[in-house]
Amino acid sequence: MGFAALLKGFREVLRSARRARPTKTRVLCPRCGSEELKLSNWLDGWLTPTRYYCQRCGYVGPIALEVDEESAQRG
Ligand SMILES: [Zn+2]
Repeated sequence: MGFAALLKGFREVLRSARRARPTKTRVLCPRCGSEELKLSNWLDGWLTPTRYYCQRCGYVGPIALEVDEESAQRG
C-alpha cells in the first residue's frame, strides 16, 4: 500500500470521526417503537451476534431502530 493511499484512509477515519458526534443514540423496537429494548447477546453467549429483545412486545432480532436524540428532538 502506498503512502498516499494510507493517508487517504487516515483522512476518511478523521472525517467519519468528526461526523460521529457524541450524541446519545436511542434504540427503539422496530415492531412497536418501544424504548424498552435490551441487548440479549449476554443470554446467548459471546459467539452469537448482538440481538435485541423488546420487553413490551417480545420482539427478538438483530435489527433495532437507532434514533439520535438530536434528530428526534427536531422532529
Ligand atoms: Zn416491541
